Amino acid sequence: VTTPAVVTVTGAAGQIGYALAFRIASGQLLGPDTPVRLRMLEIPPAVKAAEGVAMELDDCAFPLLDGIDITDDATAAFDGVNVALLVGARPRTKGMERGDLLSANGGIFGPQGAAINAGAADDVRVLVVGNPANTNAYIASAHAPDVPADRFTAMTRLDHNRALAQLRHRTGAAIDDIARLAIWGNHSATQYPDLTHATIGGRPALEVVGDDAWVRDGFIPTVAKRGAAIIEARGASSAASAANAAIDHVHTWVHGTPEGDWTSAGVVSDGSYGVPEGLISSFPVTASGGAYTIVPGLEVDGFSRERIDASVAELVEEREAVRALGLV
Ligand code: NDP
Repeated sequence: VTTPAVVTVTGAAGQIGYALAFRIASGQLLGPDTPVRLRMLEIPPAVKAAEGVAMELDDCAFPLLDGIDITDDATAAFDGVNVALLVGARPRTKGMERGDLLSANGGIFGPQGAAINAGAADDVRVLVVGNPANTNAYIASAHAPDVPADRFTAMTRLDHNRALAQLRHRTGAAIDDIARLAIWGNHSATQYPDLTHATIGGRPALEVVGDDAWVRDGFIPTVAKRGAAIIEARGASSAASAANAAIDHVHTWVHGTPEGDWTSAGVVSDGSYGVPEGLISSFPVTASGGAYTIVPGLEVDGFSRERIDASVAELVEEREAVRALGLV
């Protein structure tokens, strides 16, 4: 009998949480051989809604779903956790200054990091989805000194998937023929979706596209601003696609990247590519043996250098701000 994996989702009654829970419980996160114990952490006013989600999960009769726990207590939520998906966050509201946003999220992600430190399983893997995701992951990691820093990651897989989709539209290529796309930097409008190493059916993607202006003025801003375009069209932020990317991120982390390809994830910098050590920044990464590794030795041209530096500068500013606020 396989011991069930404990998967904790915070903000489980929210939009993304609702889209995530069913896919986790059906086995799409960890695969068809791993039963799951699903823990849902919510703030007290949302616990009842989480109970409603649990009723629906029950009604799916998922064979792999070993059980569901609902709690408003972080210590209980992360006890023995193997995979933690930190989705619940304080959104930026009108008139809110950046300092207020960082403080509010520090109040969420600091204690969650401490609870992970205290109770998580040795193999714990943490994905932060709630924004500002990179800095929230940085805060959580800072409060978990006994958990290796490379277990705290931030989601840029949705940006990566959005970039794949834009390239498919432009070139008509099959998704499986596109390789080596990369998202660098912060999960924000400053992110840098990079085609310089990408290939389509083995050919350089830039050659297939043959239009630098499209890359600069179409592809990059479309990917970076896709979230806003979806809010505009849907009247609500992307949820199912964000949940899908979270599933992809963890699935790849556990099961690996295909030979010859990589993906993108916010991982702790080891100083590679001039990104200050310790920052959680998006890089091209491979996964194998259950670990993400930054792809080494890529050539970075002048344009890429500028774009990476600009996004990393924003991460440095966020880090300085959370330090100044005493959040780490
Ligand atoms: P969503 O489920 O839509 O979003 C949750 C978080 O994911 C937000 O911070 C959102 O950022 C972020 N996010 C990251 N990437 C994306 C993306 N590509 N598209 C959309 N969102 C993205 O929010 P809801 O308000 O529906 O739900 C949040 C839930 O979290 C609520 O139920 C609330 O009660 C709960 N919560 C739980 C906490 C806890 O467990 N301790 C703490 C705080 C909240 P952005 O705002 O920038 O879109």
